[in-house]
Amino acid sequence: MPKLPPWLPLLVLILIAVGCEDQARAAPTVPEPSPPPAALTPPAPEPAPAPVWPAASAPLTVAKVEFPEGFGRKRLYLDAGHGAPGNEGNTSVTCEHEESFTLRAAQELARRLEATGHFQVKLSRKPGQRPSYAERLEEAERWRADLFVSLHSDARGEASWWLWAPDEWCLRNDAAPGYSVLYADDTAEPLLSRRLALARALARRMGEAGFLPYGGEDYVGLYASDLEQPGTFVSRHEPGKRIFVLRKPPMPSVIIETHHALDFEEVARWREERTLEAFAAAVAQGVVDALVPARVSALPTKGVTSR
Ligand SMILES: [Zn+2]
Repeated sequence: MPKLPPWLPLLVLILIAVGCEDQARAAPTVPEPSPPPAALTPPAPEPAPAPVWPAASAPLTVAKVEFPEGFGRKRLYLDAGHGAPGNEGNTSVTCEHEESFTLRAAQELARRLEATGHFQVKLSRKPGQRPSYAERLEEAERWRADLFVSLHSDARGEASWWLWAPDEWCLRNDAAPGYSVLYADDTAEPLLSRRLALARALARRMGEAGFLPYGGEDYVGLYASDLEQPGTFVSRHEPGKRIFVLRKPPMPSVIIETHHALDFEEVARWREERTLEAFAAAVAQGVVDALVPARVSALPTKGVTSR
């Protein structure tokens, strides 16, 4: 056995000591960063409220319309409301007559519905024509329309005068925007259920597109709101004041009050292409829902509040 140098044990001790020191250094105790005082924490930003119709930034969806197999081509009689002798309808927040708006909206809707290939649309009037409502109904019956849809705009609530253009004062009320779909229940089955199904389906699809259902606050005594579907209303007019196009047609008929004509923003929206696109898709899908019973969930014929 070789003789070990006398200094070797000392070197081993030094190396062990250095190794221990390295181990101690390998696991340093670093103080955890302490959270800043509560007062210095920046507050979370408030989420911006989502824009609501009829704001310019409110979203609208153009639905992809689904036509079931065998749907074919349905005949839709599209009434541009008013434009009858002595009947111009309301005057909007920009002093436009309702009959002008409904003619424009009906032409835009007809074009889009026909473009789907699944609708034949007959307009109740063209520019310069002023047929009576009785003549419109006769035409719809002769043409064997499957449905009768009448377009309108509403004028509601307490309005005040405002200067829309130099020397042009118009009525304005921005407090009651929204659409409504109106029907009458003074008929027997099966027409009653078919009217109701059409009114609810159109109101539902318009709501899904992003339009705002009107709450009905100014309809007291005229229309009662449907418990099932926001935006649907049933006529409560006195006998003698009932609405011709809701009562008379033998095919399902409704009125769509597309918007409030005295609401400045909502009128502006209805000048926009995206509004007409979203509306046409909602109407197309609503009609499919109403005409193809399998698509419509159980629709009770009752469920109406009395106001
Ligand atoms: Zn009207």
